Amino acid sequence: VSEKTGQLRGGIDLGGTKIQTVIVDSGGQVLGEARHPTPTSGGPADVARSMEDALREAASAAGVKPEALQGIGVGSPGDADGKTGVVSGARNLPGWEGSFPLGQTLAKALKTEVRLGNDVQVAVEGEYRLGAGKPYDSLLGVWWGTGVGGGIILGGKPWLGRGAAGEIGHIVVKRGGARCPCGRRGCMEAYAGRAAMEAKARREHAAGVDTDLFKIMRKRGKDRLTSSVWEHALREKDPLTESLIRRAVRYLGTGVASACNLLDVEAVVIGGGLGVRFGERYSAEIEREMGKHIFVADDPPKMLIAELGDLGGAIGASLLFSA
Ligand SMILES: [Zn+2]
Repeated sequence: VSEKTGQLRGGIDLGGTKIQTVIVDSGGQVLGEARHPTPTSGGPADVARSMEDALREAASAAGVKPEALQGIGVGSPGDADGKTGVVSGARNLPGWEGSFPLGQTLAKALKTEVRLGNDVQVAVEGEYRLGAGKPYDSLLGVWWGTGVGGGIILGGKPWLGRGAAGEIGHIVVKRGGARCPCGRRGCMEAYAGRAAMEAKARREHAAGVDTDLFKIMRKRGKDRLTSSVWEHALREKDPLTESLIRRAVRYLGTGVASACNLLDVEAVVIGGGLGVRFGERYSAEIEREMGKHIFVADDPPKMLIAELGDLGGAIGASLLFSA
C-alpha cells in the first residue's frame, strides 16, 4: 500500500431513493463511484449493508481496498450525530424511526474510520470547497428537493448551531398557512418541498383540476411525482405544474430573502433534485421575489446553482476527512 492510497477517502450520500458512493483523492477528484437503490423494506441494518456493498463497488472501481482508505464520510438524513455516529429518526428510510449506530456498523464492516454528517450540510460544504461556492467565504445553501434543506457557511466555516442549524425549509413564510410535512403550518417547505407540492397537486386533481402530471407519472412507471415527472410536465406546459412551481419559487424567494436579511451571506447556492433541474430556469424569478424582501436591496447575494451534480452529496461527505 503506497502512501498515496492512504490519502484516498470514501464518501457516501445516503438518500431516500439511492445510495451514492465515491472514492476521491486529496484534490476531490473522483476515482471510482457506485450507486445502489436504497432498500425500501427491512431496517437500518439492511440499509447499512447496501451502503457497504456500494462502497466496496466504488473502491474496487478505484483499485483500492476499503481498509486502505483514510476514512469514509457519510452524509445522512435524519438526526446524524457526528460525535457518536448514531442516526435517529431518518423517516424516509425503512424502519428507521428510532436510533441506529450507523458509523460503528460501517466502520466494523469496512475496517476503516467512519464520520457522519448531515446530508445537506455536507453537500453544501462540497459546493463551498470544490463547486459553485469556491470564491466566497460565506454562503447559504438551499437544497430544494423532497423537502427544503439548508446549510450555512460563515467566515469559511460551517455553522451548525447546536447541531440543527440551517433548517431553512421551516422558516415561516405565512402564519397559519399551508400544513408542512413537519406538522406545523406556513413553513416554506409547505409550499416549495416536492412532497408538499405533490400533496397539493393530488388535492387539486381530486377536486377536478385538469392536469397531465399523474398521466406522466404513470407513463414513466412511477408512483410519485419525482423531479423528472415535474420536469416533463413543465416541458408540456401543464398549467397546474406551472402554477405550483411558480408558487414554490415565490415562497422560496420569500424565505431565502428572510434568511439573507439575517445572515448577509455573499452567495446563495441552490441545489437538490428540483434545484438542479429548475434553478437555472427560475433563478431570475427567485431573485425578483427576493428583491421584494431584501432589506439592503442594492447589494443582494450572488445566486448560484450547485455544480457538483449527482455526486455532490457523496463528494461533500468525503470531505469530512480532509480537514
Ligand atoms: Zn415545517
